[in-house]
Amino acid sequence: MNAPDTPFAFDAAIASAADRLEPKVVAWRRDLHANPELGNREFRTAKIVAEHLRAIGLDDVREKVAHTGVVGVLKGGRPGPVVALRADMDALPVAEETDVPFKSTTRTEWNGQSCGVMHACGHDAHTSILMGVAELLAGMRDRIPGTVKFFFQPAEETPPIGEDGGAKMMIEQGCLKAPDVDAIFGLHVTSVYPTGMIGYRSGPLMASADDFRVFVKGTQTHAAMPWRGTDPIVVTSQIVLGLQTIVSRQMNITHEPSVVTVGVFQGGVRHNIIPDEVKLEGTIRTFDEAQRDEIHGHVKRISEMIAAAGGARATVTIKRGYDVTVNDPALTTWAVPTLQRMAGEANVGVVDKVCGAEDFSFYQKVVPGLFIRVGCTPPDRSIASSAPGHSPRFYLDEDCLKIGLAALSALALDWLGSQAG
Ligand SMILES: [Zn+2]
Ligand SMILES: [Zn+2]
Repeated sequence: MNAPDTPFAFDAAIASAADRLEPKVVAWRRDLHANPELGNREFRTAKIVAEHLRAIGLDDVREKVAHTGVVGVLKGGRPGPVVALRADMDALPVAEETDVPFKSTTRTEWNGQSCGVMHACGHDAHTSILMGVAELLAGMRDRIPGTVKFFFQPAEETPPIGEDGGAKMMIEQGCLKAPDVDAIFGLHVTSVYPTGMIGYRSGPLMASADDFRVFVKGTQTHAAMPWRGTDPIVVTSQIVLGLQTIVSRQMNITHEPSVVTVGVFQGGVRHNIIPDEVKLEGTIRTFDEAQRDEIHGHVKRISEMIAAAGGARATVTIKRGYDVTVNDPALTTWAVPTLQRMAGEANVGVVDKVCGAEDFSFYQKVVPGLFIRVGCTPPDRSIASSAPGHSPRFYLDEDCLKIGLAALSALALDWLGSQAG
């Protein structure tokens, strides 16, 4: 073969390899599902991945990246750029309630508490799909114009308290370097869409997620004599209401939506004692970095000023979490025809923004990236009543695995082909 392959030239090869690999991907997925591991504890999973990548002859397989991550490198037979594909490997501290035969019964400890463990976010599917993609691409390496890197990433759901991990640490440890990555693709399964469907969105897709904590210090007194102290419960109640006005009154919602939620309100030990202090905890979700900073300012100002107005004192801390997952517009536009070829034109569409967060966003801050959504609710189940990710009843239709396998393979091959010559 002298002339480089056109994208379409790969389609038949992808289709037949996907058919051949599907049973293996399903078997891997069931094994991983039955043996889930939490963030930074993906020892068994990483071992299976690394052994597989070596068995299929990748040029380089690096283990223990960001604790338990695995990075594989496949050099194609033709010169070209470098594309990365990413899968996350970690499960969640959730006790499974589905009735699949490979249901997880694993129990472990998470942040000092005993818990069940479940692949309730579908990362078992992502890992097994990417193992399949690696095998598919290794089988046609002579025709690949460039290099493919495979990132099997730990701790997407955040590492245990006090530990580093995830995409940020993978990058710090050089996964995007040597060879330097030019573009990255990733996918996430979702029960919000039926099997067969692939969703994409240009620009912001998933939210930034920051935690905030407010300590409101009053002055303790007997509940029958409130005038002798400063009641932090009443002051904090006003703060909660004040925080509701950030999105509804102060943010330009025509630009991007945002969310401010209080999830913890703790204070007091007895009905007839006004406590000294109340604690609030909550989360901030945005789709724009400037709005993110703006909301941080509002949370701080509203909490401090309302507390001061009531004679109390508020101390606010905001912990920045994952950034906004922003799909590169040019890369997204480019990818749509490829996705349509793999899933059928009618099955590829623009999806709504997602208020959940993803640490895929960190890769996208360094290189252009595209993160797509792959439907996983079977046709005989209702989307409306399908359990969302992180639910103990999250259910994945394994027919979506082959679609993910074909889509990621085609994105890598087409993109390398589009850059060559
Ligand atoms: Zn998740
Ligand atoms: Zn996830």
